[in-house]
Amino acid sequence: MANFGEKALAMENKFRSLTIFEFQERFPDEDSCYAYLSELKWGTGFVCPNCGHTKYCNGKRKYDRQCTSCHRISSPTSGTLFHQLKFSVLKAFYIVYYVSTNKKGISSTELSRKLGLRQKTCWKFKGKAMKAMESSGNHKINGNAEVDETVVGGQEEGVVGRKNAKKKLVVFAIERSGKGVSRMYGKVIQKSSSKELGEFMKTTIGLDAQIKTDKWRGYAPLSKDFKNLVQVDSGKKGGNFPDLHRCIMGFKGWLRGMHHQVDNLQAYIDEYCYRFNRSNMKDGIFDNLLKRMVKADPFPYKPIIT
Ligand SMILES: [Zn+2]
Repeated sequence: MANFGEKALAMENKFRSLTIFEFQERFPDEDSCYAYLSELKWGTGFVCPNCGHTKYCNGKRKYDRQCTSCHRISSPTSGTLFHQLKFSVLKAFYIVYYVSTNKKGISSTELSRKLGLRQKTCWKFKGKAMKAMESSGNHKINGNAEVDETVVGGQEEGVVGRKNAKKKLVVFAIERSGKGVSRMYGKVIQKSSSKELGEFMKTTIGLDAQIKTDKWRGYAPLSKDFKNLVQVDSGKKGGNFPDLHRCIMGFKGWLRGMHHQVDNLQAYIDEYCYRFNRSNMKDGIFDNLLKRMVKADPFPYKPIIT
């Protein structure tokens, strides 16, 4: 029994994410957050965003750096998604923590309750975190891939009186490895044309990957670029693509449970895939997301709302 317990614990440690206790130990106050952002931003050296100079002196505020050539002052948050926060950076860290470590994500209403911030404030900042979850395109599927499209939203079977829910077409790709699925990507498309399917596949799948699709004619011309693309019968209810369809069902179930609309569908796909693709990562998902938010350019709220 003891042996089994140890084994289970070791497994847990390998795949677990930061606990709330560890998080609170690492970030007890605002100062510790700024220190961490400063390390993420300038750990490899200071470069003035204005003139490119690499020497600096300390600014007025702790952690600010002033370029010794053009005198521009940079803060640990300038040029990052933490720029011009209207609330405490510590609460912003909590949002990143909850968004990245909650297996199923977290709604802005729940964040608002936990942190004592306005729901809209949480929603906006969560949008920034979701923005940082967009696929970097750096990790293409190179092994066994499966691709298929599905319809998301719209009238559900057996649901009466749901009005005007808009249907959207989404193409998904997964990477199969061993007995499971190691990676998943998805994109909202207008139609299942070779052009749109091809664009998605070229950003997510390596040209040499072993790709399986169904017999839809939109995939046929793509075998010019993807030499190992094979088209097979999808089978009854997609029976020849069981893993892919399980992933799609998982996504749809999550979307139904979390959100009641598909207005911002691409952002939700990105969020789901981001978390899915990192569920086996030893490298902390929290630190990874923070890193991305520091490297990202600050952006206005508009693009994620539309
Ligand atoms: Zn400068």
